[in-house]
Amino acid sequence: MECPYCGKEMTAGFVQGARVVYFTEEEHAFFFLPGRKDIKLTRDNFFAPTCGAYQCPECRMVIIPYGKGNDGKTEEKQNTPDGPLT
Ligand SMILES: [Zn+2]
Repeated sequence: MECPYCGKEMTAGFVQGARVVYFTEEEHAFFFLPGRKDIKLTRDNFFAPTCGAYQCPECRMVIIPYGKGNDGKTEEKQNTPDGPLT
């Protein structure tokens, strides 16, 4: 995948955390309870919540396709933002 900012090839990899990672428009200050508008980025996995991602070292950006199609596989098998993520 090409970086949308600089056009260079991005490195395929993963975002992982100890708990499921969400994108949220507003910061949950004290206790995180996902809301309807919060977007789950990593798949549910008790041991290693994971999703596929791309990073650009030049721009220091990470792009995370989200949805059912992002199961954390490598770039060749991973859906991209142009792919069938729904
Ligand atoms: Zn870039």
